[in-house]
Amino acid sequence: MRDQIVAGNWKMNNNQSETEFFLNKLIKQTKPTDVRVMLAPSFTQLSQAVTILKNDRITVVAQNMNAEFSGAFTGEISADMLKEVGVMTVVLGHSERRAMNHETDEVLAKKVKTALASEMKIIFCFGEELGHRKSGKYFEVVEKQITKALFDLSEGAWSNLILAYEPVWAIGTGETASPEQAQEMHAFIRSLIGQKYNTSLADKVSILYGGSVKPNNAKEIFSNKDVDGGLIGGASLNIDDFMAIVNSF
Ligand code: PEP
Repeated sequence: MRDQIVAGNWKMNNNQSETEFFLNKLIKQTKPTDVRVMLAPSFTQLSQAVTILKNDRITVVAQNMNAEFSGAFTGEISADMLKEVGVMTVVLGHSERRAMNHETDEVLAKKVKTALASEMKIIFCFGEELGHRKSGKYFEVVEKQITKALFDLSEGAWSNLILAYEPVWAIGTGETASPEQAQEMHAFIRSLIGQKYNTSLADKVSILYGGSVKPNNAKEIFSNKDVDGGLIGGASLNIDDFMAIVNSF
């Protein structure tokens, strides 16, 4: 049985008082015991989130980290710095960082290795752009992204990975992949892992869908056999919407 996960990505939203307001509401909610809830606030709110959630099962996640362990990288945050404030999981490869911060597959492969060497867990994001979807190249693009960043890892390393398929054309656009499109891609990803490693490993990897998941479409998307939950952007900023999604399995 794979982990069912709902992870919220707050991006550059929620300052100190907004974070306090949201998290104090969140800890009072009754959550399903069979769903792992994760939340990625901005760097400046990580420590606060860890403190407020210390008695809860919610995992606090960083939205990024640097590929290097330390050094002259102004404005950057290392794996050790995250761990020091109690954050053991990091999102890598989000499409906004790929597009705006030039994070190539090669850079991401290095970040993955640094995170694993630092004993961190990873939510690894990937997905095709609209042009790739329209030209029918989406399987090819996703295969390349996963192969370059992840397929030289040892089998053991995979217990630290959660995958998040996020078609770029569905992120923050209100456009969602249909449940069939999500299932088709998730099954493809699982088959790639099965071919490269083995089916028993492939069956254990949680693959999340991300891209305009809302309370009104989460259930249908999550009900697909290879979709193990969601990475949620916009809808994770509203406590009622976020909880409705958490309760959508
Ligand atoms: C995301 O940023 O990972 C995301 C899926 O955003 P949204 O839910 O707003 O499309």
